[in-house]
Amino acid sequence: KVRVRFAPSPTGGLHLGGVRTALFNYLFAKHHGGDFILRIEDTDQTRFVPGAEEYIKECLAWCGLTPDESPWNEGAFAPYRQSERKPLYRQYAEGLIKKGYAYYAFDTSEELEEQRKLHPNFRYAHDNRMSLRNSLSLGDEETQRLLAAGTAHTIRIKMPEEEVVSFDDMIRGRVSFETKLVDDKVLLKADGMPTYHLAVVVDDRAMEISHVFRGEEWLPSAPVHILLWEYLGWKEEMPQWAHLPLILKPDGKGKLSKRDGDRLGFPVYAMNWSDPKSGELTTGFRERGFLPEAFVNMLAMLGWNDGTEQEIFTMQELIEKFSVERISKAGAKFDFEKAKWYNQEWIKITDNTVLLPKVKEIMANHSLDTTGISDNFINSILDLVKERLTYVEDFWEQASFFFQKPTQYDVDAVKPKWNTEKTAFFNQISVDFAEQTTWEASSLETFFKGKIAESGMKIGELMMPFRIMLVGGKFGPDVFKIAELLGKEEVVARIALALP
Ligand code: GLU
Repeated sequence: KVRVRFAPSPTGGLHLGGVRTALFNYLFAKHHGGDFILRIEDTDQTRFVPGAEEYIKECLAWCGLTPDESPWNEGAFAPYRQSERKPLYRQYAEGLIKKGYAYYAFDTSEELEEQRKLHPNFRYAHDNRMSLRNSLSLGDEETQRLLAAGTAHTIRIKMPEEEVVSFDDMIRGRVSFETKLVDDKVLLKADGMPTYHLAVVVDDRAMEISHVFRGEEWLPSAPVHILLWEYLGWKEEMPQWAHLPLILKPDGKGKLSKRDGDRLGFPVYAMNWSDPKSGELTTGFRERGFLPEAFVNMLAMLGWNDGTEQEIFTMQELIEKFSVERISKAGAKFDFEKAKWYNQEWIKITDNTVLLPKVKEIMANHSLDTTGISDNFINSILDLVKERLTYVEDFWEQASFFFQKPTQYDVDAVKPKWNTEKTAFFNQISVDFAEQTTWEASSLETFFKGKIAESGMKIGELMMPFRIMLVGGKFGPDVFKIAELLGKEEVVARIALALP
């Protein structure tokens, strides 16, 4: 059975890359009828940030990536927080020591600090481990004495000196690493907590994970994980790996970082994140006005396509079409203009029933009294202005004139200059309008243009003034559609109000 996991560490808000990892895991699982598991990797308690876990939960819900198993919806493999699995890990680390694949290290943090001062490129590895304080250099007797005395210690993996570790990545193909370049990573910390490396392997096995999709930044850790699978005797059960391409800055120069967003003027976080320590607020796609469907669609295209020109996909289509073969190896440039395009397209195809509550909220936020405004009326307006919205919030800018008479007029837009002949025309057309028995855009247009022809003036001289009288500025959809929706009385009233 396909079982994948999204395994974030609760160290802050989720950015683009994190959510894309979750999405690709989800799509792969659902494409194969498998399970999508959320595991919280909180073994590094110095990096724990309050609120981060709730953020992850809310974010996945917003994106529609509901885990089949999670800390809040436990399945057969509970618990799903590594900190709650703490007693599980030590036995494996000690088992590795027995087999000669790991060792106790007694160096204190002060001692290691000292080493780092002496050797700026210090790393704990095969070439210097014998000169440090560990069970390999100290010997059995001394090791037993130190352990019996309750001396604080870590357990480190003993990386082989001259080996090549290889595996077949589902995206990259064959990948190889020289073990001499990898240091002896800590597996179990002095506080008894496992490190990420040990915990990830133990839990992926315990939770029967079949495939792992994770960011390319984890590729350097892969040899450690592969050796652990082997040393623990679980090689046959090892999941298949897929390291997802990096997400690059818009100019393609380097990895997009969490800090880039506010600096470059676009969000990189999924939702607003306010750092509990500094109180600093980082804007998210959700609050910036993105529909979750657009956000997810945009993320899916960061490193994947279905091989055709199609760019707009629903979640259901993504699930159907997703394939590892079509994930690219090359980094994917993040383009905020393109992200906005996805939102625009999604607003156009999103049902009014979904947009309506958001629109009402926007109206209320602008202190508009919405009593007496029917849903039908708002829906008709939405149909008219939908294609002009990049964000749902733009509704106010594009459509508030439907609910409020203009308070100022863009008189500069009225060219050539105003004259008494035009005043007379509008005075007369008001009277004519008031006598209309039907009120509908196309007949209004015919009538209005007929009257212009009779007057001998040019269409251009009167159309823009008409728009300015109704709207206040030279924007908005078809002026006769606007007039139709505003209704006869309102149009007549607005002409009267605007006339000099
Ligand atoms: N806890 C790691 C993270 O924060 C998970 C990496 C992995 O998927 O192995 O991304």
